[in-house]
Amino acid sequence: MKISNHLLVGENGEAVSFVKSPNYSSNVSPIYLIMHYTAGTSASGAVSWFQNPGAQASAHLVIDRDGTIVQMVPFNRRAWHAGKSKWGNLEGMNQYSIGIELVNAGKLRKNSSGQWVNWSSKVIPSADATVAKHKDESAEAGWHEYPEAQIEAATKVGALLHKTYNFTDILGHDDVSPGRKVDPGPLFPINSFRSIVLGRA
Ligand SMILES: [Zn+2]
Repeated sequence: MKISNHLLVGENGEAVSFVKSPNYSSNVSPIYLIMHYTAGTSASGAVSWFQNPGAQASAHLVIDRDGTIVQMVPFNRRAWHAGKSKWGNLEGMNQYSIGIELVNAGKLRKNSSGQWVNWSSKVIPSADATVAKHKDESAEAGWHEYPEAQIEAATKVGALLHKTYNFTDILGHDDVSPGRKVDPGPLFPINSFRSIVLGRA
């Protein structure tokens, strides 16, 4: 995999597809990488949502649970993933970041049958859920786990992006929109991800 003209290109049979989102603006200065979850369970659902002009939302990349990557906005264009957001003195983090969406159902609750469900009442197998406490919340909740293949793919593409765009840092949506957003949530290993991708001990 490499980046050519701000697009991911697969090498050695790696599949990287580009599905254009209409939801972007012309310019971006990508000094941060911002991680998200889709709050859904399928890449196709996320991709078709980001293709919808009415969504007014997009991300540069959608990474499926098996590690398959779809690019939707070139890295030199501003994707609309962070919404109202700030970090330090910067406001409107879409202008300063590349956004990656990981297919993950997100925060879960128990339904009346005792099954884990997400916000849209989608049932998540209990083997794929873990109870954890979000850094901004006082109570524990269920969260959809991230498969190893997905984290590996995100790490690999994150490192490639860092090599190309030289990020200052990697942030979660919950870091730049605290109180409004909880993704990528407590199960995303942001500390080890940051260390590996940025090459910091
Ligand atoms: Zn998000």
